[in-house]
Amino acid sequence: MIKEQLEEVERKIQAACERAGRKRDEVTLIAVSKTKPVSDLWEAYNHGVRFFGENKVQELTEKYDALPGDIQWHMIGHLQTNKVKYIIGKVAMIHSVDSLKLAKTIEKESAKKNCVTQILIEVNVAEEESKFGLKINEVIPFVEKIALFDHIKVCGLMTIAPFVENPEDNRLIFANLQKLSVDIKKKNIDNVNVSILSMGMTNDYEVAIEEGATLVRVGTGIFGARNYGI
Ligand SMILES: *Cc1c(COP(=O)(O)O)cnc(C)c1O
Repeated sequence: MIKEQLEEVERKIQAACERAGRKRDEVTLIAVSKTKPVSDLWEAYNHGVRFFGENKVQELTEKYDALPGDIQWHMIGHLQTNKVKYIIGKVAMIHSVDSLKLAKTIEKESAKKNCVTQILIEVNVAEEESKFGLKINEVIPFVEKIALFDHIKVCGLMTIAPFVENPEDNRLIFANLQKLSVDIKKKNIDNVNVSILSMGMTNDYEVAIEEGATLVRVGTGIFGARNYGI
């Protein structure tokens, strides 16, 4: 089942790349495995998946310990500062940086472990009340501040688009995040590279790819529906 789903997602990614005139290797699929058992992650791993996304610190570190070392772990969920220390050195990238307090904590904990942590800035493009992330007009001043941190590397932007019936309704959201990344590039800020755009989930990753996504975060489309019931 996971194998077939992965093949289906792969076909759709390729088709979206073709429609957009992009190369397949410009887009990386992150398999979002939150709430799923380690056995499901093994199955995906055995079919070649090496990028996994999790949104809870404890779950991420448990799975990190249980699975092979050649996996890249992506922290995609809201992160509390008191938990940062548990994932530094383990995660390839933190997608959800949206406050100076969080950035300072990542800087401090990365310095302790003598590493540089790659981060994305989470942007609430749609300005939904219920969502985390900076507003578009807050992003450049924020990037200018954290660009000076030695143990953080800003690599790009991330957004979680609203849940919509028709994925076309999110096209403008993705286009606006892409546009923001172009505006940041024009500023030529030292130590800042915004080439990564993490956008698109099961419902809308094809549209996101057409609008420039370089990382797509697909959960349900690979592993099936999540059960939060227990
Ligand atoms: C759960 C989650 C996803 C994956 O969602 P699906 O709709 O299951 O693909 C992607 N990004 C974030 C931040 C998530 O929390």
